[in-house]
Amino acid sequence: MPTLTTPYERAMSFIQATFDRLKLTPKERDFLNTPQRILNHTVKFKRDNGKEMELPGYRVQYNNARGPYKGGIRYHQAADLEEVKALAALMAVKTAVVNIPFGGAKGGIQVNPKELSRGELERMSRAYIRLIADSIGPDTDVPAPDVNTNPQIMAWMRDEYEKVKGVYAPAVITGKPLSYGGSLGRDKATARGGFLLLEELAKVEAIDLNEVRVAVQGFGNAGSEMAMFMHNAGAQVVAVSDSHGGIYCKNGLDPIRIHKYKLKTGSVQGQYCEGSVCDLERLKLDETEVISNEELLEIDCDVLIPAALDNVITEKNAKDVKAKTILELANGPVSPEADKILEKKGVIVVPDVLANAGGVTVSYFEWAQGRAGNQWTAERVDLELKRIMLQAFDDVRTEAKRKDLSYREAAFNIAIQRIVDAMRVRGWVS
Ligand code: NAD
Repeated sequence: MPTLTTPYERAMSFIQATFDRLKLTPKERDFLNTPQRILNHTVKFKRDNGKEMELPGYRVQYNNARGPYKGGIRYHQAADLEEVKALAALMAVKTAVVNIPFGGAKGGIQVNPKELSRGELERMSRAYIRLIADSIGPDTDVPAPDVNTNPQIMAWMRDEYEKVKGVYAPAVITGKPLSYGGSLGRDKATARGGFLLLEELAKVEAIDLNEVRVAVQGFGNAGSEMAMFMHNAGAQVVAVSDSHGGIYCKNGLDPIRIHKYKLKTGSVQGQYCEGSVCDLERLKLDETEVISNEELLEIDCDVLIPAALDNVITEKNAKDVKAKTILELANGPVSPEADKILEKKGVIVVPDVLANAGGVTVSYFEWAQGRAGNQWTAERVDLELKRIMLQAFDDVRTEAKRKDLSYREAAFNIAIQRIVDAMRVRGWVS
């Protein structure tokens, strides 16, 4: 297989392999091979020094056969059109795997947000929403946070949308603060969803979580919560990392303490945390060594949880991965080439489109609460999340067993079949 160089090529390689397994018609393949709509804008806003800044800003609406487009908005230097298209396609697959009534979309601004002040961030976020306001809405396209965006930014965006359109629209965006239409349980939803899957996997594979050693790459929203869930369940978290690097302790780390430290040292400058997990001296951790992010992926552990960037496990390092299970909390962390190598080695990969779907599932609950004008209890959110995640896991496991497929292949089969079924009954393809 030639090396797939862009995120979109990598995502489409998983999708196109599914077309063959499901024997889709040329018309169905054509439809699913490209996004339905690409919004390609220049986001203009004033810097604090009075100068105007112009940045590329995208919203890719991939497929809405099963419901309104749904997907986060990412602020990152690498968020170009290829990346946003890939993430949008994966969102369409993800909402279908967990069977919630949404399609798939993604947004992004190509920017290093850490270089912006809070005021600049707000002006940029509002400018972006003004550009796409006519193309989003509770019935059409419902954005959410992603890398480097957070509840505060969602609040600015909802506020701007409501101003521009002259409407009250709590369901236009999810991931909002609790004080402005957010849902209980959204902050931990992605990690909780992943954890529920690992618990279930441990049950069916007869693994004792108390004997499991875990490494987590990325100690942000998803990764830090996941490390704490595993720690609280009795697993040993032996390594964690962030963009500054990682730490390893063969006797296990205390992710709760590391999290507290990050919160304490994190500055709110521009909304982002600045304390790092590898600040050993200030963390005062014994028997702990500093490792690189690359070393973390090859560490001796049972479960590896990439929760930072895409394409970190490739054909170059897949053979050196020692974990027996990989839970993809990040989107696209394993390349298609690496996926094949891992499968040959017998590594169980719980794919992103299932593993991190807890976030979009609770986003769906938030959207439903916004539309109904009510507020669910935390218990109801957790219960419904568990029901949906375990049903999705059962669907994927059953398909994998029935057709002798990997979990990734099975998840893509189920999702693409559900999307195509909706396209067929709607008369979009025949
Ligand atoms: P985040 O911004 O809160 O955290 C990202 C973490 O990754 C930070 O700790 C950062 O320091 C670290 N990081 C950045 N560059 C790194 C590098 N080179 N090596 C190692 N670590 C690095 O983001 P998040 O919301 O936790 O999202 C992380 C991943 O999970 C992304 O791929 C995102 O798309 C995916 N995801 C998140 C959610 C969610 O609800 N948060 C839902 C679905 C998928």
